[in-house]
Amino acid sequence: MNMKRISILGSTGSIGTQTLDVVSSFPELFNVIGLFGGKNLDLLQEQIEKFHPKIVGIQDANDITSLREFMNAKGLSFEIVCGEQGLVDFVDFIEIDLLVVAITGTASLLPTLAAIERKIPIGIASKEVLVAAGHIVMKRARENNVPILPIDSEHAALKQCMAGVKSIDDVSKLILTASGGPFRDRDANTFDSIKLADALKHPNWEMGKKITIDSATMMNKGLEVLEAHQLFGVPMSKIDVYVHPQSIVHSLVEFVDGNLISQMGLPDMRFPIQYVLMYPNKIHCEWPRADLSILNDLQFFRPDFIKFPLLKLAYDVGEKGGNMPAVYNAANEAAVQLFLEEKISFVDIYKTVYKAVESETYKSDPDLEFILDLDARVKKMILNR
Ligand code: NDP
Repeated sequence: MNMKRISILGSTGSIGTQTLDVVSSFPELFNVIGLFGGKNLDLLQEQIEKFHPKIVGIQDANDITSLREFMNAKGLSFEIVCGEQGLVDFVDFIEIDLLVVAITGTASLLPTLAAIERKIPIGIASKEVLVAAGHIVMKRARENNVPILPIDSEHAALKQCMAGVKSIDDVSKLILTASGGPFRDRDANTFDSIKLADALKHPNWEMGKKITIDSATMMNKGLEVLEAHQLFGVPMSKIDVYVHPQSIVHSLVEFVDGNLISQMGLPDMRFPIQYVLMYPNKIHCEWPRADLSILNDLQFFRPDFIKFPLLKLAYDVGEKGGNMPAVYNAANEAAVQLFLEEKISFVDIYKTVYKAVESETYKSDPDLEFILDLDARVKKMILNR
């Protein structure tokens, strides 16, 4: 196998670091060309020393001087880009074989589209991009014949379950599983008193803060339903969610003939990341495997739409389509930011997203400019409330 040249947007985050873990396990297979981090300069510098990228991106222009000093002190040489324009320049810089998109939120939308124009295959973790602008991203990817490989464990599972399927019409249901988050069994009447620290304790997964809060509200599953709708071109009515607290069955596909295929494994993101990095090949790895003999109690429940209204709202905005999923996503991104800054309560996240969706005028088939304006406007309105 030739070495795969990869670049990572969000290299200092949870998905980014785990992607680099996988890369480190197979140093003969990967050449890291680019690393784009946010504000964690210390970690980014450690990564640069280890992987020697040709290009490095950072979020804030104020960090350029420190990064340049570090480069000179270590006798290294790499291109530096920064900010929103830097994200696109990073993708345009040099030919690569795979771009891993793992920046939280819609910040990764423009570099994703730039990669598609350059015909670079994409491993996508940033579900917000597909929720806000999936109709544009998937259309351009089809036109340019660019694979969009899902890193999200549920969608990587669905893709594996559908390997070899001749037509999407053979599928009768996509069934996403959900851990149910930290408040699965908590009385909804006590949701008013949920503290930030409680919401940041996910029972099964170690993840970035935004997705951890999304899991607590079950917004994350709402985003994933919309992500699946875009990725696989399946109508909303054919996408189901079951709460599965053990997070062993990552998702299932039911076919028209009644057969059901699931994908299983330990809740460890390195598995779906490795699946995407190696795709379409398979390679032996040494990570712990699921011991089925101890898994004698796998449970599946219907989700509670009253307790977790943002999951219900995902179906409403997905059925309406147009600009509505983008509003749903933008309002949530802003509301979660306010919750993380302890400026609003946990239940205010629901209220903020509902209010934004209800007050926005519907538009069918919005173009990129419309989505970008809407995304910025909705977030600004909520953050400056
Ligand atoms: P993290 O918060 O851990 O990481 C986000 C990364 O993006 C960090 O490298 C951060 O930099 C960087 N970043 C944030 N904003 C900007 C910006 N404006 N410009 C440049 N870089 C930026 O998040 P996760 O890794 O958990 O999640 C990333 C995406 O993957 C999300 O969309 C999430 O929904 C999805 N996902 C995550 C999973 C997980 O297990 N973590 C599972 C499935 C999907 P820094 O930290 O240096 O500031």
